[in-house]
Amino acid sequence: MKNLWSDKEAAALEGDDLALRVYTSRLLGQEPSLVLHGGGNTSVKSTVKDIFGNDVETLFIKGSGWDLKTIEKEGFSPVRMDACLKLSALETLNDFEMVKQLRVALLDPAAPNGSIETLVHASIPYKFVDHTHADSVVVLTNSPEGKAKLQQTFPDFLILPYVMPGFDLAKQFDNAVKSAQLDGKKGVILSGHGIFTFAENAKDSYDRMIDAVTKAEELISELRTSDRVISVAKSVDHLALAKIRKKVSDLRGTAVTVKMDNTPEAVGYSERSDIADIATRGTLTPDHSIRTKRIPAVINGKAEEQLDAYAESYRQYFAENSTDEHTILDQAPRWAVWKEQGILSFGATRKEASQISDIAHHTANSIQDAESLGGWQPLSSKELFDIEYWELEQRKLKKGGSKPMLQGQIAIVTGAAAGIGRKCAEDLMSHGALVVGIDISPSIESFTGPNSLGLVCDIGKEDQLKSVVEKTVETFGGLDLIICNAGIFTAGEYVEDLDSNKWDLTLRINLTANQLLVKYAAPYLKEGIEPAVLFVGSRNVGAPGPGAAAYSVSKAGLTQLARVLAMELAPSGVRVNVIHPDAVFDTDLWTPEALARSAERYGMTVEQYKTRNLLSTEIKSTDIAEMCTALVGPLFNKTTGAQIPVDGGNDRII
Ligand code: ZN
Repeated sequence: MKNLWSDKEAAALEGDDLALRVYTSRLLGQEPSLVLHGGGNTSVKSTVKDIFGNDVETLFIKGSGWDLKTIEKEGFSPVRMDACLKLSALETLNDFEMVKQLRVALLDPAAPNGSIETLVHASIPYKFVDHTHADSVVVLTNSPEGKAKLQQTFPDFLILPYVMPGFDLAKQFDNAVKSAQLDGKKGVILSGHGIFTFAENAKDSYDRMIDAVTKAEELISELRTSDRVISVAKSVDHLALAKIRKKVSDLRGTAVTVKMDNTPEAVGYSERSDIADIATRGTLTPDHSIRTKRIPAVINGKAEEQLDAYAESYRQYFAENSTDEHTILDQAPRWAVWKEQGILSFGATRKEASQISDIAHHTANSIQDAESLGGWQPLSSKELFDIEYWELEQRKLKKGGSKPMLQGQIAIVTGAAAGIGRKCAEDLMSHGALVVGIDISPSIESFTGPNSLGLVCDIGKEDQLKSVVEKTVETFGGLDLIICNAGIFTAGEYVEDLDSNKWDLTLRINLTANQLLVKYAAPYLKEGIEPAVLFVGSRNVGAPGPGAAAYSVSKAGLTQLARVLAMELAPSGVRVNVIHPDAVFDTDLWTPEALARSAERYGMTVEQYKTRNLLSTEIKSTDIAEMCTALVGPLFNKTTGAQIPVDGGNDRII
């Protein structure tokens, strides 16, 4: 493992304990095989002056909710050392009381709660303490060959058996310190959990961590009898993927998104003949069980049955390990090994799916390493249950609050580079949906973000529509919502002057493209969560005018298509509705000059022209976007085949 310490960078921080603590914490945080997503913690002991001018011995410990990779000074909780040491000396202390007392001992009431391992850090009699859940260390402590060589390889480390984090672990350390077991040591290896290093300065403590982990990695290479299996990605079975996501969403009781890992390593793992055995023994480190549950599902062909079996075995695991105080959590897996396809990670949000995916990837690699060292031996199911159902952690999960209306739902919006389409896409995202925006303009690529994907697509081309649908399923796991917004408008030509190519193109883009998109999307929509299609029609359908035949006919055709689709897709639960907006002027299409020209043609001022409807109100693109979101959302989940005007009221239609 590469040592990232830089004398130059550190020199600028000399004399500032907390600044150096931030610096090396971030160095550790950059290495995912040391710490992942909030795992690991660090501390420094320092003296601060209180308001009365007294020196107070203080432990600055990584605060809960902060990530080592991005931690700042305010991410460290200042806790009074004397209180920590008194608490560690108690014979017993329940974890709730411990958290409460540590809160009372804070020097700043606005600081975050300190890490659950605060008392461990306090009891280690060194200034700097670094703690990680290094993959390689856990591989060694949890395999027979690794275990046998541990003490010999790490003579400067105290090796302790696994105990539950929290006060039990604090007590284990307190006893080790009091019986002088830490004397002359550079660190502690905790079986099944991770590693601590310590020193009087930031550099030594960090160096000791990197040296020890490098040694662990070297020992694994030396002892290993087989390599990780590497393979090549297969073509994705899109419909099977959408069905898996649907089933997992049903088991979890909320729409999930899927992050697929089909890297050569993940596919190789899924192809191992012993996968059903090695993948289902337990997590890499105990804290993972809170995010990933104890084990993933293994899917091999009959996904639905296998996911039901997973849920059943989860209920058994709960029954075997729970006491009265526990309430069973949902029985959906958080990740799955999908035979020959790779690894799937499920999350109610994209962030959750991505974090689980990282953990799953490291777990798959480490389990294979441990297998080649005589066999992967994780913690027992009881030990992992105690972490998964640890009240302290359950409370954190429950704090979530209410979820956004479209959380976990997956949408395609056409014509999303600008204007109404862009507003629709953004509005769906603001309600928790994951959105694929498509457009013929290359500027759509800038739409790509953590919860979105921008794809260039000419909707006039059938093969491009098909590939957009498949790319959506591959990226997010399925498809639930479609907003067909893209369209073209040619005005001012009477039928006798109308160019045939313009007529054909308008029908192709405004009508046929939508029929093709729904055609390719339908198999996935049928496996969707609360699926819905929305067509953006036009006020023109009910109140046409002269000189826009191609546009009016295409939108009338689109409306009829929606009515037919509403009937065809209703048995599968897919709703299809239409909105009919009147002209929207707050898009780039309408320059001030174009507006002035049009207003003049009608003998109106621009303001009069923009509000020429019964309510005398201007229709804005956000009005359309919010109506689109509402119509595909739960508010209208009993409505299909409907046409909703968003036009301020039109006497020709009413
Ligand atoms: Zn830990």
